[in-house]
Amino acid sequence: MTTETSRPTLTVNLAAIGRNLDHLQNQAGGTDIAPVVKANAYGLGDHRVAEHLVTHHGVRTLFVATVEEAVGIALLLPHAPPLYVLNGYTASQQGVFGRHDIRPVLNSTAQATAWTKDGGGPCAIALDVGMNRLGLGIEETLCLLNQGILGKDDVNLVVMHLSHASAPAASENKAQVEKFDTIEQALRPLLPNARFSLSASGGMMMPHDAKETLVRPGIALWGGAPDGVPGHGLETVATLTAPVVMTRQVTAGETVSYNGRWQAERPSTIAVLSIGYADGYHRALSNKGEVFLGGTRCPIVGAVTMDLTMVDVTDAPKPVAEGDHAEIFGPHINIDCLADEAGTIAYELLTSVGQRVKRVYEVE
Ligand SMILES: *Cc1c(COP(=O)(O)O)cnc(C)c1O
Repeated sequence: MTTETSRPTLTVNLAAIGRNLDHLQNQAGGTDIAPVVKANAYGLGDHRVAEHLVTHHGVRTLFVATVEEAVGIALLLPHAPPLYVLNGYTASQQGVFGRHDIRPVLNSTAQATAWTKDGGGPCAIALDVGMNRLGLGIEETLCLLNQGILGKDDVNLVVMHLSHASAPAASENKAQVEKFDTIEQALRPLLPNARFSLSASGGMMMPHDAKETLVRPGIALWGGAPDGVPGHGLETVATLTAPVVMTRQVTAGETVSYNGRWQAERPSTIAVLSIGYADGYHRALSNKGEVFLGGTRCPIVGAVTMDLTMVDVTDAPKPVAEGDHAEIFGPHINIDCLADEAGTIAYELLTSVGQRVKRVYEVE
């Protein structure tokens, strides 16, 4: 048992990430899997997660969002595979890209032009299929390739991204998969050796027959459901716990926390947990969420504060004492369900886990 009682702990089960990867690989058949470890591997710690994926699972491609994230991983991971930067390229960054095997995903004519002007080299291109976020149009792409503004030999990966993959039944998915096919057919003759990638976690769990050769899961590897519905044969990876700082008794009629948003209807035992919204425990969970403590689910009472959250442990079958650990999310409190309570998604709960939360890694 940990002696640390003052701050929350995020336990990351690296072995479970590996089993989720194996599960996804079984579903994906021969298609290559390139994990997305942006945003510090969704808050789990990109260095440890990337190291595990590369060393123990032979992962050969990784995606991040920014070049700074890529450099951070490359510096700590001498055998890092090619790191693709989803946000692309800005003029004069070539020194940073060139020092390691970091490759941009070029998203616009401006990015492609700057990349070639600064010397070019292996890169990916992104094409938009309906998200209207990043990505080139097909005419624009053909122009860049045919006019030599973008070297055909430089482009070894073509990335597209579904806008409605969290809603598998949405009609947009079919249209966007068709768009992927059209683009793949148009670009294949120009880029005979390029890999084509459409699916993130959501796309991987949705039946479709796009001819992709690389998939880019993030959330599913960390045990989260892209559609917010728990299951999909994925294992829990991340467990967030918070220690009990103290317990107190309140009498009927007393209120708890700022502005008295909860009032005791009976004499109650309250546990004060060392976790708050500064640790990523959303304030929207005030009077709403539950933790697992004392052998049962205990409701949050009153407002979640910056550093502390109070829960009602009156009905807990096991007595709760200072130093006990409440599960915030993990095997008992499903992260997708908690996210739903907070009016958000597991992605946001994971990436909001704060700086002062201790990270611990399990390898079995
Ligand atoms: C974040 C991201 C992914 C990973 O998405 P998940 O839903 O977490 O699997 C894949 N591709 C792109 C372009 C992304 O931005």
